Amino acid sequence: MSKFLTEKIQKLTPYVPGEQPKERKYIKLNTNESPFPPSDKAIKKASEEAKKLMLYPDPDCNELTALVAKTCNVDKENVILSNGSDEVLNFAFMAYCDEKTKAVFADITYGFYKVFASLNGIPYKEIPLKADFSLDLEALSNEDGTLFIANPNAPTGLFVPVSVIEEIVAKNPTRIVVIDEAYVDFGGESCIPLTKKYDNILVVQTFSKSRSMAGARLGFAVGNKELIADLMRIKYSTNPYNVNRMTAAAGVGAMEDSGYFENNCKKIIENREYTHKELEKLGFVHTNSMTNFVFVKSDKIDGAQLYKKLKDKGILVRHFDKEEIKEYNRITVGSAQEMQALVNAVKEILGE
Ligand code: PMP
Repeated sequence: MSKFLTEKIQKLTPYVPGEQPKERKYIKLNTNESPFPPSDKAIKKASEEAKKLMLYPDPDCNELTALVAKTCNVDKENVILSNGSDEVLNFAFMAYCDEKTKAVFADITYGFYKVFASLNGIPYKEIPLKADFSLDLEALSNEDGTLFIANPNAPTGLFVPVSVIEEIVAKNPTRIVVIDEAYVDFGGESCIPLTKKYDNILVVQTFSKSRSMAGARLGFAVGNKELIADLMRIKYSTNPYNVNRMTAAAGVGAMEDSGYFENNCKKIIENREYTHKELEKLGFVHTNSMTNFVFVKSDKIDGAQLYKKLKDKGILVRHFDKEEIKEYNRITVGSAQEMQALVNAVKEILGE
């Protein structure tokens, strides 16, 4: 840190992404990436677009915005694209929270919410999860401020039905509810239809997981057109060209290839259930994850120890030190072979 850095940024604790080690080749099950490559259509469109990289991209991303809107069954004015969903989540913190309107979210959820709040000088309140890791919806609802709910939640994987979210949104018409649906394509149900009925819900999704495009950085938000205009004000005040040409082109290819997307989601769900079943046989318990990761623990081995032993065997998973979840590991659902390798490694570790 230099002596010139402002106090606010000095005090900030930045987000720590999952390890991206270079020293050896791991089976990487720690950052919830897709094991499948992007759609061929996405690759082809991005490569063709590379020839135009001397030109700025379309700041309104007209083609992709129209396609996302069509896929979500909303109008173009209801969609904003972003550089990963992280960016539009940050826009939402900037737009709908300040010293007077705090951010409210669960104590165990996506770690970036806290960072966005601190970065923007926003007070925040964390609401403890219940003992079974479910969201304390009443406490979340009773706390004033802008609500941020990851649904399904991370790292627990638990999904809250749309009808329950609707109740919160309907009961709280004077504040915004942001639903982060990064993992919704793996068995959950989207709240996007609620955006047509209520003006206080914003739904955020990403191309990073189910559409195999984490490296392209592409996300979007859907909401009523005034909300989207709010977020556009921020986009045009920070980085109008937030989605680069190759990413926007890849996004079009990915959206057009819905069959590939659906098939990949189906395979991830199958592999997730295989992993649940096999780890259960080995004495593990798991949450009812509706995502592309499993959240598991065993009485036979401490969470941190399992993480370390798997790493020694060349398999990376994600372990969190937080007291309430330190017995668990979050394991990304990879290909069938990767999950088989994981199960075999766990068997070996338990037998050692
Ligand atoms: N929300 C949640 C709950 C996540 O786990 C992630 C990915 N780590 C994101 C949002 C952000 O994803 P991206 O910026 O890649 O779209």
